[in-house]
Amino acid sequence: MKGPDPKPPIERFWKYVKSHLEASSCWIWMGGNNGKYGRFYRGPHRDSPQCRVYAHRFIYEHYFGSIPDNMTINHLCEVPLCVNPSHLEVATMADNMRYGNNPTAIKARQTACKYGHPFDESNTIIKGNGCRSCKTCNRARALVSANNRRKRRG
Ligand SMILES: [Zn+2]
Ligand SMILES: [Zn+2]
Repeated sequence: MKGPDPKPPIERFWKYVKSHLEASSCWIWMGGNNGKYGRFYRGPHRDSPQCRVYAHRFIYEHYFGSIPDNMTINHLCEVPLCVNPSHLEVATMADNMRYGNNPTAIKARQTACKYGHPFDESNTIIKGNGCRSCKTCNRARALVSANNRRKRRG
């Protein structure tokens, strides 16, 4: 059985980067990816899921320290395979969803719920998945279900 790779992960990391000669250009990840973001086995156990990280997250943490659990990494250059730390910024999940055109992003850009209640600070609940929820509508729904319960009871 082969033991863990003795080389520090960062040394192996650079082998997968196309070019990091110019500080300002994109450093393209040439290793494995998940169809969008680069993937890196930080080791020591290549097959352990805990050792499998996104390449851009690995390099961000290498330079700037660990990323808080509820935060995500944004590519300022919009090149998902780029691992240039100066192109990366830490952002909240909600921030990140304001970019792009996936349904969640479009939803996140809306300034009001579908009934027109504003998504302002006092009327908005940020759910665990980063989606917003309208307090006015939630209150209305809670009232309706409370009324229904009362009605059922007679
Ligand atoms: Zn870049
Ligand atoms: Zn509403």
